[in-house]
Amino acid sequence: MNDLPVFAVPPADDVTAGWWDATREHRYTLQTCGGCGHVQHPPRVVCIHCGSDDDLWFAPASGSGEVDAWTVVHRPPRPGVAVPYTIARIRLAEGPIVLTRLDGDDWRIGEPVRVGWVDLDDGRALPVFHRDG
Ligand SMILES: [Zn+2]
Repeated sequence: MNDLPVFAVPPADDVTAGWWDATREHRYTLQTCGGCGHVQHPPRVVCIHCGSDDDLWFAPASGSGEVDAWTVVHRPPRPGVAVPYTIARIRLAEGPIVLTRLDGDDWRIGEPVRVGWVDLDDGRALPVFHRDG
């Protein structure tokens, strides 16, 4: 999958650093609230369920889910971005729905997927989901 085009990736910040650090080891994590157990993505300053900001951590996630919606982008969002590519909403096994990249362009809603990784030059990695199995 390393031939997939990679977009400009935002730098890690205080909220997302833990998530990005895990990607360096190809570990998919999800921000989890130690107070109420809520799982959320992308990482946020507070738990969107209970409002707590003092016990958020990055729990190991299965990296599996299913396709909720997908589309193929044929028109580059800006010059220099290679097309076509597929973006999708993936419903993760842990519950959150994430907007992410999907490998290939022939999908069905509900199809099982698993995370894979595209390594970035700075050591981080981008999740790209592909068929599970
Ligand atoms: Zn909470």
